[in-house]
Amino acid sequence: MSQNELFNDGVVKQDVVNARTISVLVPYPVDKAYDYIIPEDLNVSDGDYVLVPLGGREVPAVVWGQSRGDVKPEKLKSIIHKFDLPPMDVAHREFIAWTARYNMAPLGFVLKMALSAPGGLEPPVPAKGYRLKDGFELLKLTAKQNAVVQVLYDNVPRIAADIAREAEVSSGVVKTLFDKGVLECVDIYNPAPCIKPDPYRQRAELSEDQAYAADGLCDFVRSGSYKAVLLDGVTGAGKTEVYFEAVAEALKADKQVCILLPEIALSNAFFQRFKERFGCAPALWHSHLSKGQRDNTWRGVARGHTKVVIGARSALYLPYRDLGLIVIDEEHDPAYKQEDGVIYHARDMAIMRAFKGSFPIVLVSATPSVETMQNVWDGKYEHMVLPSRFGGAHMPDIEAIDMRLEKLDAQHFISLQLRQAMEETLGRGEQILLFLNRRGYAPLTLCRSCGHRMECPRCTAWLVEHKVGAGQGRLQCHHCGFHAYAPDKCPECAEPDSMVACGPGVERIYAEAQHYFPDANVMLLASDTAEDGETLKGMLSDIREGRVDIVIGTQIIAKGHHFPNLTLVGVVDADLGLQGGELRASERVYQLLHQVAGRAGRAAKKGRVLLQSFMPDHRIIKALCESSHGDGRDAFIETEVAEREVAHMPPFSRLAGIIVSGRDEAQVFEVAKLLGRSAPQGPEIVTLGPAPAPYAKLRGKFRYRLLVQAGKNLDLQKTLAAWVAGVKVPSTVRVYIDIDPQSFL
Ligand code: ADP
Ligand code: ZN
Repeated sequence: MSQNELFNDGVVKQDVVNARTISVLVPYPVDKAYDYIIPEDLNVSDGDYVLVPLGGREVPAVVWGQSRGDVKPEKLKSIIHKFDLPPMDVAHREFIAWTARYNMAPLGFVLKMALSAPGGLEPPVPAKGYRLKDGFELLKLTAKQNAVVQVLYDNVPRIAADIAREAEVSSGVVKTLFDKGVLECVDIYNPAPCIKPDPYRQRAELSEDQAYAADGLCDFVRSGSYKAVLLDGVTGAGKTEVYFEAVAEALKADKQVCILLPEIALSNAFFQRFKERFGCAPALWHSHLSKGQRDNTWRGVARGHTKVVIGARSALYLPYRDLGLIVIDEEHDPAYKQEDGVIYHARDMAIMRAFKGSFPIVLVSATPSVETMQNVWDGKYEHMVLPSRFGGAHMPDIEAIDMRLEKLDAQHFISLQLRQAMEETLGRGEQILLFLNRRGYAPLTLCRSCGHRMECPRCTAWLVEHKVGAGQGRLQCHHCGFHAYAPDKCPECAEPDSMVACGPGVERIYAEAQHYFPDANVMLLASDTAEDGETLKGMLSDIREGRVDIVIGTQIIAKGHHFPNLTLVGVVDADLGLQGGELRASERVYQLLHQVAGRAGRAAKKGRVLLQSFMPDHRIIKALCESSHGDGRDAFIETEVAEREVAHMPPFSRLAGIIVSGRDEAQVFEVAKLLGRSAPQGPEIVTLGPAPAPYAKLRGKFRYRLLVQAGKNLDLQKTLAAWVAGVKVPSTVRVYIDIDPQSFL
């Protein structure tokens, strides 16, 4: 075939009837792969990465099996070329197809998650490096030129800027030496990240319990077959240390490993630990990478050179060449649910990835989710337990403070009992964390005179006053970013100076703590006071190194961190979230507070946790208090499971959320009503709604919800597809399907 024909938009005019064709999946929201013609001089097979014409553009895509034959060959276009990469692993392709089916997402849209760094398909672009030319003549050199020559004596080529920095000269000097023929130019390639982690380096001395669990995990890795394991142990038990052994085992077999963490904020400390254990940095995968880093990592993973990836949920969809182990740290964390684009739960998807790839997956948690515990009890998952903290550290004592008995002044939030405990702690030179999962100064601003509440014009939400950080002096919406200056008179009744702040946010607790302890160093740690990773890193090391006495923090501080001198945790409002009435509300509160409590006394000193509550007899507060002596947690999960069984809720049934959204409320309501009228009902399936979503308006869009509750034997996806396809939806309205919804907002 001639070049002309190939570039004539790929339409091949001759021999079309005998042309070889194959189906190719493009990374766009399409439900199926399309047929393309294979050029005569090209060999392609399933999984190959190819470039194809699509709607006047050229797009990277993946060969997806035999041609479908649903379009006449003369109408087909031709593959443009094949990228020089090993094909996408068959397990990964099956996984993509399964993800699309399960979550009812377009197949090509899921592929897009795997082709998330198109630059990685191309060979790496070299940088221009310099080194000494063989047998160069030592002319008369200036001192600066000499400095450059000294730097390059090791024969390692570097880019001009690096040479200049090492030699402490300007890069012009390098250029001059090149012109003189002393230096020569070579291509240098940025190596893929994490190529040679060393599994034999820095192995920790494991305790007996740890060694037992680690050996078990290593056996699973060696077996090379699917197995799901819950690694269950209190915070500080050494779970990370233990699963690192499984990672090492996979590396010995030259397999790739994917470790998911819920929040990338965790990764700084983690990164260091990984480096110490394996002698090289892991590859990171999250939304803040530069394009170059993304391309380089993607390429390294696809070629099988990059061995360990640590990332947020999207790292699961990287096209691993030979994956041999997945670890999901903090498996219970709600951050594993992706709520936009393809809506999926990364932990649940990861189980299927391991199954398709025939290798083990380790779920790690101190407070496993109800679903995971049920799978353990059903015998579907192995259970490995680390019963105690490493090195004899004790679990903290957890007590409730009955706020009904505390006589606090209006708009004060730190009880006398907590204050006394803080004083004692400071007296011993130890640190305190006051936890409140609410950013800003006050969650609500209202008019004393007419009762008017400051509400976001675009969302069903109160505006939150902020006094610290970037949004200083403003009322902000935490959903859409709307902000306004705090008014000096009521916008409703025009009464001057009548607006008052109601309730506590972390900034207000910060002010109160400073007021009670004027000599203490108090730090405010929330996502808006530690905006970037570097600031957060600095703040965390200030805490670790004792430059801070009292930390006031949101959930950003709740997880993963290890502060040896922190011995008192005060939870300002333990009731927050208890009355939400959502399916997972109590589970979430329990997990979060348990995590927070886990920050206390992680080293030699025993910790104490005080929960301020107006409902100290609530079963969750009681379960938390009992969890310091061990069995409170399982009792809590068992009660939770029992309640769900009675209510016929997951894991005893399946749920799907249908969200209808759009800017025109009448239109949205109309579609929701149509869906409601044709909703599937029967012995195995119930549909509730439509009802306005709890956030009935979000970012200017109106939202209605329906909730489908189905028996486990029903083909839920098939039923939903048939139902939704039967309702005509105008292009200005969107209908989202959320399988296994985590949030009901
Ligand atoms: P978890 O993940 O269960 O919360 P980590 O693995 O983070 O626990 O361990 C808690 C602390 O104890 C860490 O500082 C870790 O380095 C230390 N640690 C745990 N096990 C060991 C061990 N076998 N040898 C040395 N230090 C350990
Ligand atoms: Zn808003």
